[in-house]
Amino acid sequence: RAAGLGPAFDNSYARLPERLFARLPPTPVKAPRLVRLNLGLARDLGLDAGWLASEDGVAMLAGNRMPEGAEPIAQAYAGHQFGHFSPSLGDGRAILLGEVVTPAGLRRDIQLKGSGPTPWSRRGDGRAAIGPVLREYVVSEAMAAFGVPTTRSLAAVATGEWVFREDAVPGGVLTRVASSHLRVGTFQYFAARRDMDAVRALVDHAIARHDPAAGEAPNPALALLEGVVARQAALVARWLALGFVHGVMNTDNCAISGETIDYGPCAFMEAYHPETVFSSIDHQGRYAYGNQPGIAHWNLARLAECLLPLIDAEEEAAMEAAKAALAGFAPRFGVAYRAAMARKIGLPQARPEDEALIEDLLRRMMEAEADFTLTFRRLADAIDGDAAPVRALFADPAAFDGWAEGWRARLAQDGMAPAARAAAMRAENPLYIPRNHLVEEAIAAAVERDDFAPFETLVDVLARPFEEQPGRERFAAPARPEERVTRTFC
Ligand code: AMP
Ligand code: MG
Ligand code: MG
Repeated sequence: RAAGLGPAFDNSYARLPERLFARLPPTPVKAPRLVRLNLGLARDLGLDAGWLASEDGVAMLAGNRMPEGAEPIAQAYAGHQFGHFSPSLGDGRAILLGEVVTPAGLRRDIQLKGSGPTPWSRRGDGRAAIGPVLREYVVSEAMAAFGVPTTRSLAAVATGEWVFREDAVPGGVLTRVASSHLRVGTFQYFAARRDMDAVRALVDHAIARHDPAAGEAPNPALALLEGVVARQAALVARWLALGFVHGVMNTDNCAISGETIDYGPCAFMEAYHPETVFSSIDHQGRYAYGNQPGIAHWNLARLAECLLPLIDAEEEAAMEAAKAALAGFAPRFGVAYRAAMARKIGLPQARPEDEALIEDLLRRMMEAEADFTLTFRRLADAIDGDAAPVRALFADPAAFDGWAEGWRARLAQDGMAPAARAAAMRAENPLYIPRNHLVEEAIAAAVERDDFAPFETLVDVLARPFEEQPGRERFAAPARPEERVTRTFC
């Protein structure tokens, strides 16, 4: 095949009514330089990695050259930001180049983020600083390695231009890959304008991409809503099981696909506390760790509102049906969360009474300020090795012992062999997470010294988060007090 990206683009979104987007190319940058290309993802997408790393390929990843078949667009969307409705957000600094269909038959968006101004840029410059580009790369790829649904990072490029934030900082472009960029806010944009033809087109598009079975259902719009409810419930359960705080769960950052999207001020907890907040702009703690299921449900209710007229022409009937769909969130979340937490403590067959055992552990972890990730990881050692490492995470090790007695009694009730159980737990509980101080350290090296080696190393460590990597102990360790990063910025 001819030199180039690889598969042909097939841009289904660009075939939707023109008012759903704006057609425009990325704005070229001065001196593009490839920082990282995700070879594994390129392979899965069926893209030609050799070409991507070539001068022409890097020019595409920087937005300087459009590949054949690209139809660059910025997408319209609205959104509730911290509970307040903004009728017009849209891609202010991202441009969708098009969609590719992978060798496995999956349709994927290829989007540049930081690629210049669009009609939705408002006061923004349309650019991204290299720091947030690297953060999104690190964290989204870690999430993928954890097995959590997420947008992916195909490449990071340095632009050779400065962007002006608090200081002048080097600019970057991230190539984001997503199973779509449809958000709750996409529906809100058109519902707010009473443009139900556009909402209908979006429903059909979303069904084709994410819920083909809903197309056959007696009520497709309702079936789509149920699909999104199920995916978001499963997603937030996975976040909680990893100690992940998204940080900016606005409705424009709530994906119809059920993928984690928008790695702005996100962070992983170290010491366990349900009220943990990192985002510097989340003053009320709206998006705190423990609030995430409730917020996801709230976001889904905003989607339901957009769909009401399509669910039933009769308003009351539509409301009843939507309410029933939304009521599915809590039980779905609960089942997924309890199952995930039970697996974390070595119980693949969760029972209702395990909830109390898990709650008790979390309470003791909170009181002891125990590291979330390491506590679960080291539980496996307490089965096939030594309990000392997990005990040591508790200010008062007796607090762990008090819990462990009941835990061991419960483990004794099912017949799994200790070695198999410990192995299953190690496949469930990562040893390495993108700890804030490590991410910040990698960013600082890139920004201050043009040194991308710490970023490369961090990406490599996190590609195998469940596997012990000798010599990389510091990547597993919580921040020392003087290293702690408690505020994140987007
Ligand atoms: P976010 O908080 O990342 O979800 O972004 C909210 C909105 O701000 C979206 O419409 C973005 O496109 C827009 N935005 C964020 N940063 C910039 C920027 N530097 N230039 C233009 N628009 C931006
Ligand atoms: Mg966003
Ligand atoms: Mg963002």
